[in-house]
Amino acid sequence: MSLIEIPHPADPVVTVRGLTKAYGGRTVVDHLDLDVHAGQVVGLIGANGAGKTTTVEILQGLRTADAGDIRVLGLDPVRDADTLRPQIGSQLQSSGLPDRLRVGEAVRLFAGPRATGGDRLLEQFGLAHLRHSAFAGMSGGERQRLFLVLALLNKPRLVILDELTQGLDPAARREVWSAVAQLRDTGTTVLLVTHELDETELLCEHVVAMREGRVLDQGTPAELVSRHARDVTVRFGLSPADITSAADTLQELNRLPGVSGVTRDRGDVVIRGTREVIAQVGAWLVAAGGPVPADLRVDIPDLEAALLTLLDADHADHVGRSGHTDQMGAAS
Ligand code: ATP
Repeated sequence: MSLIEIPHPADPVVTVRGLTKAYGGRTVVDHLDLDVHAGQVVGLIGANGAGKTTTVEILQGLRTADAGDIRVLGLDPVRDADTLRPQIGSQLQSSGLPDRLRVGEAVRLFAGPRATGGDRLLEQFGLAHLRHSAFAGMSGGERQRLFLVLALLNKPRLVILDELTQGLDPAARREVWSAVAQLRDTGTTVLLVTHELDETELLCEHVVAMREGRVLDQGTPAELVSRHARDVTVRFGLSPADITSAADTLQELNRLPGVSGVTRDRGDVVIRGTREVIAQVGAWLVAAGGPVPADLRVDIPDLEAALLTLLDADHADHVGRSGHTDQMGAAS
């Protein structure tokens, strides 16, 4: 059963135009536009210090913008804070609870007038058996799942999650991802701030890539990958017998359709190009007659490659425009 009413996808949940924020004269969010529609899971990704947390804190009325038109669920986050806050469920980067607070007590403490189904949420996120456990004794994954329960308790119309899986081990990350996937499947609108790009690819249908307060590009993960990280890489080691003819091998591979470059990396041959290269190199290896190298590796472009390309391009552009070396670096 769905815990939250499934909203109409056309409903705007967040509409931001020209959001600008400076600290001490330094602009950290720079004319940002953002749209989040009902039922979407939207990811904010980008370099450290890109202004992601500042943006989501402004959306919750926790900080004030210097300029911009900001509507969250049709309301002004500062002027209408009292009406808006209960409709947003959030887990902030700096979330914490008193060490001795027990799970069941936390649920009762955070429950507002709209709260329903605390027990059901604990059940849903695998925490029911910890109802009498203190926060201090919980693992990282359990704590993050508790923050999700607390964020959902008051039937929010928008859920904001800031670096939800930071510092979790791989198994705990997967537990939390599956909890967020459950949210997505019930039609909850989620704004996710994250550096975990596998998380973003798995959970988000729309991604906004930011650097230094600006949106570099946005779209589905697949759109960003196809726009900014088209190349695949095929890599394998040369056997000692092949080393002597390596130059010929490189030339032959370079002539294959789709190949944009072939290089040597220590004992490996590295071939870059379009996806066609995978089949072409496979066919070339078969035609060469030897065994297919056991260390053959294919790297398909992903969101991480796309983001790195975007950040590098923007960094180069910035250096070009300002004519000096930027101390921040591209993906610091
Ligand atoms: P990260 O991914 O590292 O968490 P972020 O994209 O969430 O970064 P913000 O936390 O929004 O970025 O910070 C944007 C910039 O604003 C950073 O350079 C940060 O140092 C600065 N900043 C944030 N809060 C304050 C503050 N209260 N006073 C001064 N500067 C601040």
